[in-house]
Amino acid sequence: MVKPFLIGTRNAAPHLYRGIGVLKKGGSIIDAVEATVSGIEESTESGNVGVGGSPNILGVIELDASIMDGATMKTGAVGCVSKYCHAISIARKVMDCTPHAFLVADGAHRFAKVMGFKELELHTERSKTLAKAMALDGYKSLPDDWPNKEYYVTAAQELNIHEWYKKLSDEHQGTTNVIGMDSEGNICVGVSTSGTSMKFPGRIGDSPIIGAGNYCDNRYGGVACTGRGELTIRRLTSRIIIKYMEDGLSMEKAIIKAFKELHALKDGSCQCIAVDKNGNTISANMTRASSHFYMDIDMTEPKERQGILVEPD
Ligand code: ASP
Repeated sequence: MVKPFLIGTRNAAPHLYRGIGVLKKGGSIIDAVEATVSGIEESTESGNVGVGGSPNILGVIELDASIMDGATMKTGAVGCVSKYCHAISIARKVMDCTPHAFLVADGAHRFAKVMGFKELELHTERSKTLAKAMALDGYKSLPDDWPNKEYYVTAAQELNIHEWYKKLSDEHQGTTNVIGMDSEGNICVGVSTSGTSMKFPGRIGDSPIIGAGNYCDNRYGGVACTGRGELTIRRLTSRIIIKYMEDGLSMEKAIIKAFKELHALKDGSCQCIAVDKNGNTISANMTRASSHFYMDIDMTEPKERQGILVEPD
């Protein structure tokens, strides 16, 4: 029997205790994943999730999120949420309370209102500065010690919008991924993001697309991706990794195969975290060393676990 646990990306680490607290009080693994992701959404630290997320090219913060239950294969997702902070909880309500799987923009806002969510200003001083600097002078007015300022400025100078977007999205990523497993092997995956930096208004990434940024099935495992969403959408990376596991590959081999296929597209990079049905965990990155954070119900703080780097052939 597996000890109930959660894993998450680096930005999830300070919030894993919330989900563990939910499990200790008898909450379900879905409740635990939702609570952890909610913690990240309402903190302003991440800069790419929930409040204070990355603005799109018009300066609007548009959130995407999804949740999947590996026991029932039920899913809920939202896209282009600009008026509410807890995209993951709205996604959960879509899963639990509607006959649908995915609501976007105005429809998601109307639904959130009916479900009793409170509207919230998503901009912080930081995200406002970013949006203003972009509109003003291609980011040159950002303070010199702004993280990754040079990437913003160089990318904004590119006249080719595709290159601009590609560069920023590769250098400036920050979705949150959380996966949980309970003692009966039930898996839940939660993903939330403001999406890749400098996206077009209305752009939806992989995070709310089941199969691309999120997938789980209790019989095999669960996967969540971050990075260039346009890449994982093309290969349905989360689903394909589980499919390779269904076909008999180990989790590590399945990820290596899927990531090599992404390398072959030569159009950016992504990362993932994953668990298999036995409770083994892993993370992988296409360009640098990777790690993820693990916390089970007996731990008082999360522990960093090293992952793998998958290079092209
Ligand atoms: N995958 C996200 C997206 O494409 C971005 C990220 O993970 O940084 O919206």
